[in-house]
Amino acid sequence: MKYYVTTAIDYVNAQPHLGHAYEKVLADVLARQARLTYGPVNVRFQGGTDEHGVKNYRAAREAGQEPGPFTAANSERFLALRESLGVSWDDFIKTTDQKRHWPAAQELWRRLEQNGDLEKRTYQGYYCVGCESFKTEKEIENGHCIFHPTRELELLEEENWFFRLSKYQGWLQDHFRENPDFVQPAFRAREILNVIEGGLEDVSFSRAKEKLPWGVPVPGDDSQVMYVWCDALTNYISAVGFPDEEKLAEWWRPEAAVTHVIGKDIVRFHAALWPAMLRSAGLPLPDHVFVHGFINLGGEKLSKSAGLSLDPFDLAGTYGADALRYFLLSQIGVGQDGEFSVERFEAVYAADLANNLGNLVQRVATLAERGGLSGREAKEPSLEPELVLERKDFRAALQSIWQVFDATNTKIELEKPWELKDSDPERYERVLGECADSILVGAASLRPFLPETAERIEAVFTAPKVAAPSEPLFPRLDR
Ligand SMILES: [Zn+2]
Repeated sequence: MKYYVTTAIDYVNAQPHLGHAYEKVLADVLARQARLTYGPVNVRFQGGTDEHGVKNYRAAREAGQEPGPFTAANSERFLALRESLGVSWDDFIKTTDQKRHWPAAQELWRRLEQNGDLEKRTYQGYYCVGCESFKTEKEIENGHCIFHPTRELELLEEENWFFRLSKYQGWLQDHFRENPDFVQPAFRAREILNVIEGGLEDVSFSRAKEKLPWGVPVPGDDSQVMYVWCDALTNYISAVGFPDEEKLAEWWRPEAAVTHVIGKDIVRFHAALWPAMLRSAGLPLPDHVFVHGFINLGGEKLSKSAGLSLDPFDLAGTYGADALRYFLLSQIGVGQDGEFSVERFEAVYAADLANNLGNLVQRVATLAERGGLSGREAKEPSLEPELVLERKDFRAALQSIWQVFDATNTKIELEKPWELKDSDPERYERVLGECADSILVGAASLRPFLPETAERIEAVFTAPKVAAPSEPLFPRLDR
């Protein structure tokens, strides 16, 4: 079984915010769980950055820089999530990569054109630079894009290449009916199917080079650069070898499981446009498009364009990567939006991490050390991988893992092992051994979610002699 999971490639016009971090952590849990379930060699986890387009070009110009060095520097900030948040990407593709990415984007273009799906037309419409797409009436509210209420829409008229998405409406409807879990969660699948049934418009695929020189050249048309989807979406296959079909087939074939993890603002492009492009090019489709919501801060979408930002690097540096991962994974339902505030984050940290898990590990390890308890065998996880890999209900998964820790806490309270050390040393050792074993089961289940914490707990209880950690797993917050 081959398992290939991707995060969206982000625009590098600004620094990563908490919403970016959230997506990477969600996908990372899938990748880590898949490595445990199918074996690391059968799993590939990929991220990247989308470095072309008007937004990046303008942001570079506004910063007084050439787009190349500007986007390269910002791309590094996204890649830094690997270190800061434990996002275990196996590969990271940049759309400016002329060796790995450009030949794929251009070959895909040629195939769409050969199949009669690209057409040059004059077009006039309202363009949202935030979305990098023309907006239909339904997507405009009070004169603004519904996703970018603070950005001005631009009225554009020019000659562009268009992809004939409308041609694929019937085929897409059939695909959704035959594959009810193509888009997850189910409410998102219904939503996008409604959009498809309402009629699909053709999609602008290029821009005049004189207006935007920063992009992949359109094959056979010197006046145009790709803009933006044939460049961006292609990252999912360029990094795994396309147009080399043999290389591609290792990860991108009907028998492999392919999951794209994306935000709700780009569902239409991943769930309608991308499958139609692949179909046109005669390539297999991904199995799942897993759609997450936005992180809200005071009721607003967390993004630079709305003037709100909370730095994931600062949060991970202050509280620990696993603490931030825990909050993001345990507090937001599948596909829902989440609320973030420092108050709420600190409350969850204190209750679940410092007082519950951290305290439990410290207490059991201290008592075990006092009794000279030998290390135990590492345990198998009790968590069903299906809950993670199929249902993707990380909140429910963490709740079930915390039930193991709660039960162990209760057992300690009932058995009061500290009263047994001298009166019944045999029972003392048995009770602490059982507690250590349950904690190890919980820690094993925790590996995909809080990798560093799981490793630290397993190190404590599998050492030749159990010893309490010198530093608590989750130090209490100074008030
Ligand atoms: Zn927009």
